[in-house]
Amino acid sequence: MATVGGVEVPTEHLIGGERVGSSGTFAVHSPIDGSHLADVARGGAAEVDAAMAAARDAFGAWAGLGAEGRGEILDRLAESILERVDDIAVVETHDNGSLIVGNRRNVIPRGAKNVSFFSEWARSRLQHPPIEGRSTIDRVRYEPAGVAALIVPWNAPFMLGTWKVGPALAAGNTVVLKPPEWAPLTLSLLGDLAVDAGVPPGVLNIVHGIGEEAGAALVQHPDVARISFTGSTETGAWIGSVAGRNIVPTSMELGGKSPFVVFADADLEAAARTVSRQFVNAGQVCLAGTRVLVDETVADRFLDLVRAETARLPIGDPRDEATRIGPLITPEHFARVAGFVDRALAAGAEPLMGGEPHPFGDLYYRPTILGNVRQDDEIVQKEVFGPVLTFQTFSTEDEAVALGNGTDYGLAAMVYTKDEAKALRMAEALVAGTVWVNCFFVRELASPFGGARKSGIGREGGTWSFEFYCDVKNVSIRRGSFEGGTP
Ligand code: NAD
Repeated sequence: MATVGGVEVPTEHLIGGERVGSSGTFAVHSPIDGSHLADVARGGAAEVDAAMAAARDAFGAWAGLGAEGRGEILDRLAESILERVDDIAVVETHDNGSLIVGNRRNVIPRGAKNVSFFSEWARSRLQHPPIEGRSTIDRVRYEPAGVAALIVPWNAPFMLGTWKVGPALAAGNTVVLKPPEWAPLTLSLLGDLAVDAGVPPGVLNIVHGIGEEAGAALVQHPDVARISFTGSTETGAWIGSVAGRNIVPTSMELGGKSPFVVFADADLEAAARTVSRQFVNAGQVCLAGTRVLVDETVADRFLDLVRAETARLPIGDPRDEATRIGPLITPEHFARVAGFVDRALAAGAEPLMGGEPHPFGDLYYRPTILGNVRQDDEIVQKEVFGPVLTFQTFSTEDEAVALGNGTDYGLAAMVYTKDEAKALRMAEALVAGTVWVNCFFVRELASPFGGARKSGIGREGGTWSFEFYCDVKNVSIRRGSFEGGTP
């Protein structure tokens, strides 16, 4: 166990309902001040094997409980998350440097919702109407697939972990979850909450470890029935190649470089406020609109508004309720972000705002906007995953579309305009899993979520989650073939 922000957190794996250690550990440090938080069990192939065996053994009984029986247990898990929101929020903030204010108010309560929403959906919404053929009636069944391997990144582990655990368990699968090594602690805590809520041993297993060790062993395991991965496009490509060889369905939520398009007729104040929000959590948000595209006739005014809105966002310790921009996660990631900016500046980009570290602490970086960039520049093409935006102008709608679609990614796109027809044309023309019009970051759990192009494969949310986590079976019954009448 470790004590983090006054909260006891387990540091061992959870396998078959028991806490189990490994011969090695890895150290976890807080991005807030570099302090040592915990030494966490460093699992590998042996721990993955044990967890997979426990998950396989638990599968039949868990699937057999039915959506109703599972739902009662999962509702208790959601309740216990809600009872511990403050504790989980504190641990998440220490672990990955995300804002305490957001964790308490939105992110961790959303974790509870991820569990209760999908358990309710499995109970009441997961039905397909019979398909009436001429000679047959087809009945569609959503059946649990087996053991789901779930892998999430460090920027929002509790929220992203429960977004997978919730529907995977509600569908009747059992799970082996690998938390991110840079921020593993809240998902470790989730294991205790699951045990307390009565989730049977082996239904939710947690194997801690390094991506290339525990993560790689997990996705290569021959008994895995589903792989749901959120993380970088590079890791996703490798996992996809493994899954391809083993014919395992995957859901991939990957990187982004989303355009934020602002037309001259937009509510510029609202748009500027939302652009400044791309810096929250130091920009370590996959969905962030990191490429600001502005109508050239309002560009100067809009930049002034963004500068003013950003100046209102306090930078500092994320444990402080007032803070809006905290640290980057690790020294390696800080060097990566700073390297992107330094190379862009050396190549001729203009620092319209920031462009250097912030003096508050070792891992803090100033909110940065870079102008004078070309579409094929590294800073426009590559995901930085930090508080760094590029700023480009356009003169026509077609040009905005060309710039917006001009990367390999397609996670999200934001469009600000008061013209409905224009908004709908843009929404159609932009390549993205989600287009937000005059808003940002609103995500209904019933709506499809995922990325186009190199931002991902597949969609989760609502029924889409169950189409992924279930084997969809068609039962085709010949009409009139039963004694006693037509089915
Ligand atoms: P990452 O790909 O390095 O790691 C993600 C997870 O994969 C971690 O748990 C890691 O341990 C594991 N992993 C690493 N190598 C592995 C391997 N060979 N086999 C199996 N697992 C392995 O990504 P990251 O740096 O932790 O996260 C940042 C990335 O995640 C960004 O690209 C961001 O855009 C993306 N992201 C996407 C979404 C989305 O919904 N699309 C959400 C959040 C983050």
